Order: sequence, then C-alpha cells, then structure tokens
Amino acid sequence: MKPDHFYATLGVKRRINAAGTLTRLGGALMHEEVLAAMAAAARASVDIGELQQAASRTISRLTGAQAGIVTTGASAALTLAAAAAMTRWDIAKMAALPQAEGFANEILLPRTHYTGYAHALRAAGARIVDIGHNDRGTGAGVRGLEPWEIESAITPRTAAFAISANAANVSDLPVAVKACRAKGIPVLVDAAAQLPPKSNLKKFFQLGADLVVFSGGKAIGGPQASGILAGRRDLVGSALVQQLDMDVPHATWVPPSLIDLRKMKGIPHHGLGRGFKVGKEEIVGLLVALERFAAADDKASNAALERRLGKISRGLNGRIVPASETGRVPQLHLKVRNPAAVSRRLQAGNPPVHLSERYAGQGMLIVDPQALRPEDDATLAAALRKVLNA
Ligand SMILES: *Cc1c(COP(=O)(O)O)cnc(C)c1O
Repeated sequence: MKPDHFYATLGVKRRINAAGTLTRLGGALMHEEVLAAMAAAARASVDIGELQQAASRTISRLTGAQAGIVTTGASAALTLAAAAAMTRWDIAKMAALPQAEGFANEILLPRTHYTGYAHALRAAGARIVDIGHNDRGTGAGVRGLEPWEIESAITPRTAAFAISANAANVSDLPVAVKACRAKGIPVLVDAAAQLPPKSNLKKFFQLGADLVVFSGGKAIGGPQASGILAGRRDLVGSALVQQLDMDVPHATWVPPSLIDLRKMKGIPHHGLGRGFKVGKEEIVGLLVALERFAAADDKASNAALERRLGKISRGLNGRIVPASETGRVPQLHLKVRNPAAVSRRLQAGNPPVHLSERYAGQGMLIVDPQALRPEDDATLAAALRKVLNA
C-alpha cells in the first residue's frame, strides 16, 4: 500500500516537509534498504542484549567510541547517560533512581548550553547545576566558558558535566574535558542534531567526550524513534543494563559482554530506562541507516540538493545557502514580510507545506530539503510561488 494512501485511510493529511527532519513531522524518511532490514528483523527472535552488543561493534567502528547502544532517541539517550553517570555499576543506586538525592546526582551544565532537553537529564533524577554566564549569547561580552568556572563547581556531589554541542560552541568541549578528566567527571555531549557533517560522528570523541548522543531519526535516516548513546564502555554498559528487560533468572542469564557482572553486587531489576525499550526492528534499522549515512558521498548529495533547490527557487526572492555555510545541508533562505502569516497559509494549503521557522524572527523562512521527497519538489515550488508572490 502506498504510504499516502494509508495515511488517507486514517483521515490523516500527508504533509510536504521542507522544514527538516523535525520530530513533530515524523523525522527522517527511511530508505528502502532500511525498511527491508526492519521487516526481516521483525520476523525472527533474538536476544536483545546480544543484538545491542552487535550494535556496539558497528557504532564503535563508525564513531571511534569504545562502545555504543541503540536507544529510542537522543532524548532517551540523555536520560540513560545521566542514569549511568550517577549509578555506574552500583545496583542499589540503579534501584533508587530517579530518587538520587542520596548520592552524587549533580550535572554541571553551562548556561550557554542549557536547552529544553535538560529535562531529559533531570528525568533520571539528576539535579542540574547552572554554571558560567551567557555573555556571548546575549552579546554582553566576549568571554566563553573558562576552566576555573568548571573546576570551582565540581564537588563530591558532581556526577557529570553536560554540553549541547554546535559548530559555534564546540570549543568549550576540550576546556571541559581538561577540567573534568582530572577529577574523574564524565563529559556528556548532546550532539543529537549535529549530523551532517558525518565527520561529527567521530569529532566529539576525538575532542575527549566520554558520552555522546545522536538522534537516529534525523540526518542518519533511521527509524524515527531511534538514537545512539556512545562512549566509554563502562558507562554505556551501565546504561544498557538499565534499559534492558531485566526479569532474568540468576541461573541462566547470559549477559552481553558490555555488561560487567563482576562489577555489580547482583543482577539489577528493571532499571530507569525500562520504559525506553528499543525494539529489534529499530536496532537493525538504525544500524543499516548508520552504515548508509557513514558511506554516503556528501559532496554528491549536497550538489544534487542544490540543483533541486535551484529549480524550486525559480521566480522567488530567495538565496541558496551552500552546505559549507549552513554546516549541514544546502538550504533555500526566503526573505518574507510576515513569516508567521506565510507559514500559516502554507500549512493550510492542500497538501499542507511546512518550511523551517528557525529564523522567522529575522524575517526569513527556510526550505530545508532533508526530508523533502524529490517527487514533491514541483508541488512545493507551486505552493511557494502562489503564497509568496500573492
Ligand atoms: C532533536 C534533539 C534531541 C532529541 O532527539 P530525539 O532523537 O528526537 O529524542 C535532543 N537534543 C537536541 C539538541 C536535539 O536537536
């Protein structure tokens, strides 16, 4: 059955997504090869721990991290990372979460890195400790995060240090690594949407991060409800044991080697991440998508996207911004007088059209082609001409 038809039978409108791999619009569109692997995965039983161990091998090879697991998204990976940093291999602490007041549960988060996803860290029971200031973000000053601000904030209650990486602030990472490593504090990086470029799969580990999260349903093109938690083997292992179904008998359970039974006083019960269970289909789909993403020819695909944007932009007052400037994929930036009104009209169209509203405050709407089907280009162009030139 064609997807458009299936959504129609549910009474759900199919939308032209020129807004990027937004979660609220369903994230990335999956390649046939990914779908085929998921379908095959759905028809056989496997040990999920063993499958995650295999995922770890693939993720390690492609990211350079010691280990990695598939999660139900980057947000879930942040919660698991916070849990792992607070508990390590202590199963009594695992059992206590999210009540973590009794042990080191503070995560240092620079004010320049505070996002809505800090909630995902707090969900594990962590308490966020804001540090530093936001002089650069507000334009009030020139200085960024400094080592003494981190060092003086670290106490026996500190469990981790977190940042939300982007191209502009990534220079904070080595500063944090230097200050935290000396005190044994793991550094956690939210890199959910920092792909492409695919070099970022490795970059944050090269800069010394202990744990990095990526979204699987954005640029990687995996299942919408998938993500990656990668990094230090012991922390990833702790996250995994807190995610798996742990209703297992002592006598017969064979854990994957990522889970170090010798470090634990016993076998933990279902962990904080039990509600983030990831299906065999998502694990396999993510792995196939990740292999495709890592092997893709970015130059060729960006050139193809630029050609498509060139056609879409004909007759419009827009500028094609190359990948070298956006840091991701090429985009078409459209200057409009009333972005909110234009966006509303496009969304009310048939079919509804979504543009990125990221820079609406600056009088701009953006065609982000990451989840735009080539067969929709002409319909999109017609809708844009109609609404923008009205
Ligand atoms: C999208 C995003 C997330 C959440 O990713 P999911 O895979 O949807 O859970 C977390 N952090 C940042 C910065 C993001 O952009």
